[in-house]
This record gives sequence, structure tokens and C-alpha cells, in this order.
Amino acid sequence: MTKIKVHDKYFEPFIDSKEIDNMLQHMAGKINLDFKGRVPLFLVILNGSFMVAADLLKKIKLECEVSFVKLASYVGTQSAETVRELIGFDENVKGKSIIIIEDIIDTGLTMERVLEQLKDMGAEEVKISTLFFKPAAFKKSFCIDYIGKKIPNSFIVGYGLDYDRRARNLPEIYKITDE
Ligand code: 5GP
Repeated sequence: MTKIKVHDKYFEPFIDSKEIDNMLQHMAGKINLDFKGRVPLFLVILNGSFMVAADLLKKIKLECEVSFVKLASYVGTQSAETVRELIGFDENVKGKSIIIIEDIIDTGLTMERVLEQLKDMGAEEVKISTLFFKPAAFKKSFCIDYIGKKIPNSFIVGYGLDYDRRARNLPEIYKITDE
């Protein structure tokens, strides 16, 4: 792995494929144990989580359902506040045990909105899995059940995560550098 340039910024190697695989194995092992004998619905938050979902779900030994949603952000006409809503959510979540698959939790705002919506839709139980978590940026108080790795508060790309639409295809994680 060598330093890369994406658009105008440089990124250095941070986490290789082997380490990502170990993190996913650890998360899947815990989920397999916690949900033994049950049939959870995995809810994948697109776009960034597509690689995490593909690799994590191959390690899940449970009978399960998988569904995908995308978050839409827009600026309201009355205020500058960003509103996020779940789109493409056609599953009936009422009474179901849901495990959210997320790529990264930063401030926690996105996940809080997802949790609110699932609660409104009558989900019985909601657990959260995320490959990366930035504790220094986190502003919320909800519990994160399955964390691949806690990382410092700097911008990363690769393995589904983009910088202005690029770099999602990289099999490893890169961290932004100054030069
Ligand atoms: P939050 O709502 O927790 O602040 O942010 C969650 C979303 O912000 C993630 O799903 C992801 O799309 C984006 N995000 C947060 N940190 C990073 C990062 O380091 N790199 C990339 N590419 N996206 C990030």
C-alpha cells in the first residue's frame, strides 16, 4: 500500500485488508452468538456500507433477512437544518429484531435519525453494528453494540467510504495527510 491522491487530497495507508477481515470476523462472531436461534433483519445503510455488508454477511451463520436503505439529506425551505430520511424502506419492521449495518459513526446524527424512524415504524429491537467509530467526534448517547475499530477523528476513505464520490472501490482504508 502506498500513498494515494484522490481529487486534490493525499491519503496514506491506514488499515489493510487482513485487519479489516479480522475486525469483521470478530463482529460476526459476536452477532452469531447473541442472535443464536433467532432470525434478525440486517438493515444496510447505503451507500458507504455496501462492502462492509457484503463481507460481514458472508460470516453470519444465522438464518436472517437482509434489506437496504439509503439516507436522503436535504435542506428545508424554512431552515438551514439538514434533514435525513430513510428511502427505499419497504420492509415491514414491526415486531422485528433489526441489526443495522453502518460503515462509520462520526457525530452519531445519522444513526440517531435512523433509530428514531425504526422506533416510529414499530421495530421490536434495534442493534447497531459499525465498522468504524470515532469516539472523539461522537455527540450522542445511544449504545453501539458491535464496533469493528475505534479510530481517531480524521477523514478516511476506501472500503466503501468515499471522498467526493471517489475511492469507494479501494479494498483498504486510507487516512488523509497534510501534503
Ligand atoms: P455522522 O452522522 O455520524 O456524523 O456521520 C455519518 C456519515 O458521515 C457516515 O455514514 C459517512 O457517510 C460520513 N463520514 C463520517 N466520517 C467519515 C470519514 O472519515 N470518511 C468518509 N468517507 N465518510 C465519513
